[in-house]
Amino acid sequence: MAMSREMYAKFEGLEAMVGRTPMLEISLEYKGEKRKIYAKAEYYNYTGSIKDRIAYHIMRHAYETGQIKKGDPIAEATSGNTGIAFSAIGAYLGNPVTIFMPNWMSQERVNMIQSFGAEIRSVSKEEGGFTGSIDLAEKMGAEEGAFLPHQFSNPENVEAHYMTTGQEILAQLAELKQSPDGIVAGVGTGGTLMGIKKALQEIYPACKAFPLDPANSPTMASGGRIFGPHRIAGIGDEFIPEIIKLDQLDEIVMVDDGDAINMARKLARVFGMGVGISSGANFLGALQAQDILGNKDAVVVTVFADDNKKYLSTDLMQEQPVEAGHMAQDVELIGFRAIK
Ligand code: PMP
Repeated sequence: MAMSREMYAKFEGLEAMVGRTPMLEISLEYKGEKRKIYAKAEYYNYTGSIKDRIAYHIMRHAYETGQIKKGDPIAEATSGNTGIAFSAIGAYLGNPVTIFMPNWMSQERVNMIQSFGAEIRSVSKEEGGFTGSIDLAEKMGAEEGAFLPHQFSNPENVEAHYMTTGQEILAQLAELKQSPDGIVAGVGTGGTLMGIKKALQEIYPACKAFPLDPANSPTMASGGRIFGPHRIAGIGDEFIPEIIKLDQLDEIVMVDDGDAINMARKLARVFGMGVGISSGANFLGALQAQDILGNKDAVVVTVFADDNKKYLSTDLMQEQPVEAGHMAQDVELIGFRAIK
């Protein structure tokens, strides 16, 4: 079923608001050694996170294939950014959105989702937390015929990053006369990592792909064990998502949440770059990847998935005690350049 002219015009109008984010080339010293890290500034998206890419792509695909039409409800389980992205895009397209979210996510996330007119169902640990949220979204799909984006298993999630994030990275690195040796990304659904990996390895088969887990809750590294809560919102969601294929990936890198917070804070204080906690984690993960590659000059790319505005009520506002194994205190940020 072809999309109506009205919806086609809406998607075309929205497209320029999603993706085509700046690539940052960050110069730093780590333990006195000069290094560079490459990061996509994903907070330059429609609602301020990398998840706008998948919400746009999944909705466009759903309209193009006739899985959804104007007015149909959407239900999704999310730890935040996906909910914000679908709520905003659903509002614009004319689809009412219900978001199921664990009740320990920051108040800013709840407020943002509500500001787009979406319904929020907050799910306690007793109701099953993250996996409980997924079950409730499924139920709404079965009982009310809601469209389910299924971000944890939908191949269109990976495809969005293959077609956009990954291709942008290839073009921007080429402009900087660099070729990638590795990609690091904290894993929520795994869409970011698997999609970028596919794009980069098509051209550079030797490029490594490192998934990142919170050190306080290493779900992937432990084969799927459930740990307690951690503070790197958006990654390490209590299970290994279906999209992630660990046998196609390289070493799992781990970053402590306090260290991630201190690194994000440093990026804000020194560069005026107000990034979220997973961006701090990804930055430190990229340094670890250079160590694993045995080359401090290795070209490692990562993403700054969102900005700090959703974390103003959280521990991101407090400098964290330095613990054994932390890295952020040994990073001196020197400068950056950005290309579009
Ligand atoms: N960082 C943040 C802040 C996020 O919201 C997400 C998405 N859950 C990720 C990282 C991980 O992205 P992905 O789901 O593509 O693995």
